[in-house]
Amino acid sequence: NLMSPLPWQAAVWQRLCEVANRDRLGHALLLTGAAGLGKLSLAQLFRRYLLCEQPDTVAQQPCGVCRACQLSAVGNHPDAMDVTVEAGKQHISVDQVRDLCQRMMRTTHGHQGRVICLYPAESMTQNAANSLLKTLEEPPPNSVFLLLSQRWSVLPLTIVSRCQRIHFPVPSNEDALRWLQSQHPSASAHWQYALDYAAGAPLRASSLLASSEWERHQEWLSRWQAVSEGRQLPTEAAEAILPKKTDQRLALFKQLLRWWLTALALMIKDQALNKALPAWLQAKSRHDLQAFYQRVFRVLQDVDQVALNAQLQLEALFISWQYGEED
Ligand SMILES: [Zn+2]
Repeated sequence: NLMSPLPWQAAVWQRLCEVANRDRLGHALLLTGAAGLGKLSLAQLFRRYLLCEQPDTVAQQPCGVCRACQLSAVGNHPDAMDVTVEAGKQHISVDQVRDLCQRMMRTTHGHQGRVICLYPAESMTQNAANSLLKTLEEPPPNSVFLLLSQRWSVLPLTIVSRCQRIHFPVPSNEDALRWLQSQHPSASAHWQYALDYAAGAPLRASSLLASSEWERHQEWLSRWQAVSEGRQLPTEAAEAILPKKTDQRLALFKQLLRWWLTALALMIKDQALNKALPAWLQAKSRHDLQAFYQRVFRVLQDVDQVALNAQLQLEALFISWQYGEED
């Protein structure tokens, strides 16, 4: 429950508030941008701002004390509606959109109209999108739709053309790092790495750093380094990384292969940009990195086709990293 925008959202927030203050708010906004930039939290803050009875239009904040703000703060404002993918489902269904339209026929509770957050918009089925389109063509008075999308290019043009689009840019590396530092002060060695992994999206990087997945990732990375420096045998490293339970091994192995591809792609990019690689990587040429990338990629491609032994495959990968490709 944000009371103010995240640091990198200042420009987008400014624009949203200007649109609202000048009463140029249409019936639908399409908020686009990558995952992990905080689109949803900003949309919810904007909704609170729109529903607030006495928003501070200079400071561009909801007042925080009126009845609407109090209801919003506990997620209980009757004119604030959400439509999203239900637990266990993959799409926003036509029934969900129809149900929303019915609820919208009723009068609003406050005087500020009603604000609907629908996300992710690209997960609507074709029928759901058609149903929404009808509503957007004849919108009930005093209603604002906030559609959120990571991949807005797959949305029907008929919907996109009825929305005012506001794009969330990826923040500068400097801004993202500064925020990540404030959130994870003790993880200094990993800030940049997590950010690269998250393609520059700060919230995604932050949740990565806080996840148990990240611990496993660090374990894998340190074993890889140990093998690379000859401090550990490939067989030992492979055994230490993979879980004892055989039914979990394949899933982790696949995850590991994807980490590897991401890490190698970043290394190849850094090398091309003449950035200094960590000492344990400096003996590797660009050709070495690319050849190993290809090898990991082939293993990942085949991983579901053949009944493979994850541990043997992992050992083989470590050995090929250490001694190079034969071709
Ligand atoms: Zn208020």
